[in-house]
Amino acid sequence: MPAVSSTPDDPRHDPAHPAVRRMSSRYPVEVIRSERRNKTVSARIVDGVIRVRIPAWMTAEDEARFVDDVVGRIERERRSSAIDLLRRAESLADDYGLPHPTSVTWSKVQRQRWGSCSVGSGDIRISDRLVDVPPWVLDSVLIHELAHLVVPNHGPDFESLVSRYPLNERATGYLMAVSDRLNQQSS
Ligand SMILES: [Zn+2]
Repeated sequence: MPAVSSTPDDPRHDPAHPAVRRMSSRYPVEVIRSERRNKTVSARIVDGVIRVRIPAWMTAEDEARFVDDVVGRIERERRSSAIDLLRRAESLADDYGLPHPTSVTWSKVQRQRWGSCSVGSGDIRISDRLVDVPPWVLDSVLIHELAHLVVPNHGPDFESLVSRYPLNERATGYLMAVSDRLNQQSS
């Protein structure tokens, strides 16, 4: 996957390569092909527009894949920053008699698991794939990780903690369906 930089850039440097706008995103997207840039690609939000710069040699197919990927990533970042995970986890901890975490952060690298926690430090990480699931599903993952701060394994004690959340089973089913869909996409 190409690295995304946020270096300032000026489209006027490439008058021969006018921007193309796509409407597949919630943000307008501008794609600028640059001959000066042999290998670098970059993407950033400028005045409410996602501006993606790609090298001129990139094929249309590669361009489409890269732009989809980078736009998806930027949009997830935007949406995830709107959710205050720590406050939400603290409020759930109060509701279901679980300990407060030290920190709760989004993780971009976590793809196999929805969440993880360090029992020692009380730090919880949540996969940013969950940015778009319904709030009650995200809550179930937070409760799952909070319960691990008390019981590290998935035994009966753990089950009795997470089942305090009435939508626990429904959320588990929902997440299994999402996993299946993601697996199909990547295979
Ligand atoms: Zn677990």
